[in-house]
Amino acid sequence: MTLTHNYRGRLAPSPTGYLHLGHARTFWTAQERARAAGGALVLRNDDIDARRFKLEFVAAMIEDLHWFGFAWNEGPDCGGPRGPYNQSERTSFYRTALDQLRAGGFIYSCTCSRKDIAAAARAPHAEDDEAIYPGTCRSKSPSTLNAQPSTRFNWRFRVPDGETISFHDQHLGPRQYVAGRDFGDFVVWRRDDVPAYQLSVVVDDAAMQITEVVRGEDLLKSTARQLLLYRALGLPPPKFFHCPLMTDAAGVRLAKRHDALSLRQLRARGAAPADLRRGW
Ligand code: GLU
Repeated sequence: MTLTHNYRGRLAPSPTGYLHLGHARTFWTAQERARAAGGALVLRNDDIDARRFKLEFVAAMIEDLHWFGFAWNEGPDCGGPRGPYNQSERTSFYRTALDQLRAGGFIYSCTCSRKDIAAAARAPHAEDDEAIYPGTCRSKSPSTLNAQPSTRFNWRFRVPDGETISFHDQHLGPRQYVAGRDFGDFVVWRRDDVPAYQLSVVVDDAAMQITEVVRGEDLLKSTARQLLLYRALGLPPPKFFHCPLMTDAAGVRLAKRHDALSLRQLRARGAAPADLRRGW
């Protein structure tokens, strides 16, 4: 297929478990939108938190996506001009962005060890969104930190308190979030030298020239955070299309713990992708 338009979309799964029907539905929207625009689709393996991902899930992810009917133009299995497509191989890009944020005075070092820091490498789906940071380390002078050379610290982005971040969602229409109220200073790099989700996703979507990010609506607040990062890094933001989340019969958001709805199990039970997609 010749690509005639500039649209570039992406599927960005994290290999922390088997993909389920909820992922498939969001990804299907991403694929359909790329197709409708005559654009390209990129598969990115978001394996940034090396401790949490497992190699077997990467292979399963690619196999399950193919089985379901996904096809991409660039990815870890087929390469492409904007690779590498495994986040674990892209640390130098994230480090350059971190240096730029530091030089611009957008981030500060933070010695707090909180639960949200441990979680920062993964996308904050639903109830695990990063808590509003109380600002403990915001005004510590760098010299206080230099006095403790052995201290390793996290890097946090200082949000412009009170500023309304507005964007037009391609699905939901106009959205507004207030910095400091809807979300606070967020982690961009963890003290154990792991880049945070918020930073890695912005750096990659920009470097891979993604023109529209299609993902679940649980990441709306992350979009507001990410728009601040685009601005600070002087990068043009993509468009955003947030999809409704798929829930189980009890109304609970599908998660990797819903084994019965994993693409793996559905396939083992003989389900046909076309039937699963009916009504989407
Ligand atoms: N890898 C992230 C996730 O699976 C991507 C989120 C995003 O689309 O930005 O949650």
